[in-house]
Amino acid sequence: MQNEKVALFIIFGGSGDLARRKLYPSLFRLYQKGYLSRHFAVIGTARRPWENDYYRQIVVDSLNDIQATDEQIAEFAGHFYYQSHDVTNAAHYTVLKKLADTLDQKYQLQHNRIYYLAMSPNFFGTIAKHLKSEQILTTAGFNRLIIEKPFGHDYESAAELNQQIRASFEEDQIYRIDHYLGKEMVQNIAAIRFGNNIIESLWNNRYIDNIQITLSEALGVEERAGYYESAGAMRDMVQNHISQIATLLAMEPPVSFSARDIRHEKIKVLRSLHIDTPEEAQHNFVRGQYGPAVIDGQRLEGYREANNVASDSKTETYVAGKMEFENYRWAGVPFYVRTGKRLAKKETRVDIVYKQLPTNIFKAAQDDNKLGHNILTIFIEPTEGFSLRVNAKRLGQGFATRPVDLNFRHSAAATGNSPEAYERLLLDAMNGDSTNFTHWDELSQTWKFADVVEKVWSENTPTDFPNYASGSMGPKAADELLARDGRHWIFSAQPK
Ligand code: NAD
Repeated sequence: MQNEKVALFIIFGGSGDLARRKLYPSLFRLYQKGYLSRHFAVIGTARRPWENDYYRQIVVDSLNDIQATDEQIAEFAGHFYYQSHDVTNAAHYTVLKKLADTLDQKYQLQHNRIYYLAMSPNFFGTIAKHLKSEQILTTAGFNRLIIEKPFGHDYESAAELNQQIRASFEEDQIYRIDHYLGKEMVQNIAAIRFGNNIIESLWNNRYIDNIQITLSEALGVEERAGYYESAGAMRDMVQNHISQIATLLAMEPPVSFSARDIRHEKIKVLRSLHIDTPEEAQHNFVRGQYGPAVIDGQRLEGYREANNVASDSKTETYVAGKMEFENYRWAGVPFYVRTGKRLAKKETRVDIVYKQLPTNIFKAAQDDNKLGHNILTIFIEPTEGFSLRVNAKRLGQGFATRPVDLNFRHSAAATGNSPEAYERLLLDAMNGDSTNFTHWDELSQTWKFADVVEKVWSENTPTDFPNYASGSMGPKAADELLARDGRHWIFSAQPK
């Protein structure tokens, strides 16, 4: 088959949550679409002493929500092999190598290997080291390393981790996952910008007043509290996902739509990202933590009541802030960003707010006739689409105007068929396309940016936590952040 990919996947953390919820279903969809067929195999590793059959049943169970025949599922699961493996034990890699070589022959995999590290980042360095020292890396085919977030805890730890990985892999063999880059509408940012003259021509500080990025979540920390306590919203969402979206919005048009040219522009624009002084960070960033609330007669617990969370936790579950790119295109245009848990609504979107016209010639026609800003909104989740707000004449006598939204939404059916982020990214990695993965030079810059805020916060204990109620739109200070600049958040959901 023409599109068929040929590779051995070795998944470290094969019994884990990510593997079951995302990786196995995504691999299966790629199988259903013919990208994976005869020449692929998967080795799942974890510490438990499982047999192949037991592991294959886990894989089958993870496909519950997907329509397929039993036969198709059984055939797919037959490509999966389990290897009990402690990633810190060198001898275990020798056994793993034997199995990898056997499967390579059996399925004619051309020595192509993809290593997926679906486990705690504490182990990334050890695994990378052993893959090289125990010669699991092949010389005949490709070797690609896919790693999950979090990539470090701050710039220093990220740099150290990077060094460990680079001792075994070249930068172009490393695929750092940021699953937001696999989302349909995040990828659509490039199409909207670079495919439309009326948009790209006005994409600068002469026409744009400010840009707002919102990643609002309705859920609390749920079972991730243990990790979240030491991370917080800044590290969990702003340093990576939000910064990546801002970068795609801010970068210059690449020479071509190739991974190399796009990366070049992303890295370039991130070099112009203003790193706040501690005083600026204190001024430009707001943090919050959700407290309990009663909604529809049901009590929602506050963050400090969650399992594995300290009763006096200082961890932020909400961040709002201002990012600025100091270059010709963006000088003077703030990128306001915010993210938080237990907010009124789950919504990921970007609002591009255009400047007002120099004057309003309709003012005389009607006293209260105000022209609103043009706003281009890119809806990322849960709706996928975009809208453009323009001013138009109200029907009838007189000359009052009103805002009208030109809307485009992908239909639910089309969205249902569109690939999941992980499915796209896995296929990209198989194709050797790193466009939608994060380069070290991007990460290093966004860590330096986040570190200043983290440092200021660690030196100034929050005294008002919890400072927003579950089901609200976050702390008041986040509204004041924009009000100070004479602006307001475009998106606002009714509190529950
Ligand atoms: P998990 O705790 O469910 O799974 C961890 C896996 O590692 C298990 O298979 C466990 O057996 C294995 N493991 C632990 N110690 C080991 C050792 N010494 N030797 C061999 N195997 C060992 O974790 P997860 O939720 O699947 O997350 C995995 C990675 O993906 C983490 O880096 C996490 O931050 C990241 N991530 C997860 C999600 C998600 O939705 N679960 C989302 C984004 C990122």
